Amino acid sequence: MVTKEEKQEQEKKIKVDGTEIKVKTPPPRKVRPVYYCQTCDRSFPSQLDLEEHMKIDHGKKTAAA
Ligand SMILES: [Zn+2]
Repeated sequence: MVTKEEKQEQEKKIKVDGTEIKVKTPPPRKVRPVYYCQTCDRSFPSQLDLEEHMKIDHGKKTAAA
């Protein structure tokens, strides 16, 4: 399914409440990076949107205790 043509994408990892999330940064011709939720494969225009999604849709809360 996945071809080798993704080599222009840069991957980095962020952590949301201890959960590591892989973030793909498309080539610069695209305006914004896209943040993918590894749990459900949805994409978001910003890290904040992804974090909100994690909290809302997957019940990931910021550690309060
Ligand atoms: Zn998700």
